[in-house]
Amino acid sequence: MTIEKLYAEPHRRFNPLTGEWVLVSPHRGQRPWDGQMEATDAPACVGYDPNCYLCPGNQRAGGAHNPNYGSTFVFTNDFAALKPDVRPMTQDESGRGLLLSESEAGTCKVVCFSPRHDLTLARMTIPEIVRVVDAWAEQYAELGSLPYVDYVQIFENRGEIMGCSNPHPHCQIWANQTIPNEPRKEQKSQRDYAEKHDACLLCDYVQLEMKAAMRMVVENAHFAALVPFWAVWPFEVLLVLKSHTGDIVSLDSGMREGLADIFKQVTARYDNLFQTSFPYSMGFHQAPTDGGAHPEWHLHAHFYPPLLRSATIRKFMVGYEMLASPQRDITPEVAAVTLRNLAGIHYADLKPR
Ligand SMILES: [Zn+2]
Ligand SMILES: [Zn+2]
Ligand SMILES: [Zn+2]
Repeated sequence: MTIEKLYAEPHRRFNPLTGEWVLVSPHRGQRPWDGQMEATDAPACVGYDPNCYLCPGNQRAGGAHNPNYGSTFVFTNDFAALKPDVRPMTQDESGRGLLLSESEAGTCKVVCFSPRHDLTLARMTIPEIVRVVDAWAEQYAELGSLPYVDYVQIFENRGEIMGCSNPHPHCQIWANQTIPNEPRKEQKSQRDYAEKHDACLLCDYVQLEMKAAMRMVVENAHFAALVPFWAVWPFEVLLVLKSHTGDIVSLDSGMREGLADIFKQVTARYDNLFQTSFPYSMGFHQAPTDGGAHPEWHLHAHFYPPLLRSATIRKFMVGYEMLASPQRDITPEVAAVTLRNLAGIHYADLKPR
């Protein structure tokens, strides 16, 4: 049976980063994008919003005033989910791990990408996005050097559908004492692969994908953006550094520019897909800051967008997905060609002024 025929039948695919499987049911959705379009809310269109707690000069809910910042702006979250000064505690009430709890120290920061309320990564210039990359690198280094921080999680929620009600371009960084579940799973997989094959999992994977080309979305000299073989979300994208580096601080200026470029290219395509401000959760996975050497870690970012067929039709992770396994209809190959064929420039910037 050819690989195309195999992919046309229900099958499951293995995610080597997490060790989990996804069920693919292409017979339910293997058709090219039919062009359906629905009108949606216009994205934020004012450069400054007096009621936005992230705009320059405005007062935040906690009472602090934002400075009149000119590019990026970083502050500690006024309602942080983690705090540095927790009393160390371990409780195992049953002695068998049935009621196990531990204290967790950490801190939460907010990074504003731009003073402009109406911009997004898709519409910022490359030098502007490079400043965001520099801020991420500075924060990773600064937070990672704190003795109680073993992991720095950089993530962005975009769109109300993802629980983000403020359109001002920003992301969050949570830094904490232990390595959280997802990077912990990926760390084990990358370590196991390195031991077994004396090679890096993602170095090998990105080479395979560049050669196969069928799941590639866009690439530049330093980064590849692709729909991973094991993607769960309809238009999920994995952004992988082509060379082996474990963290964002280690990127040189050329690589940082490459990262900025690929961010713009991916997010512009996302917005172009349904001509909307495309919602997603994005986050980096990189080496922990626990003081150990981590040659197994390969820097990458995941984009998890929920939209399926239009700006209003989303994928829900319910039923079988909650209880058994994630499942998808359109194949990653169909999603990749759809994204690849879109313009890498935002639709609003293509219109004649
Ligand atoms: Zn704002
Ligand atoms: Zn690698
Ligand atoms: Zn990852």
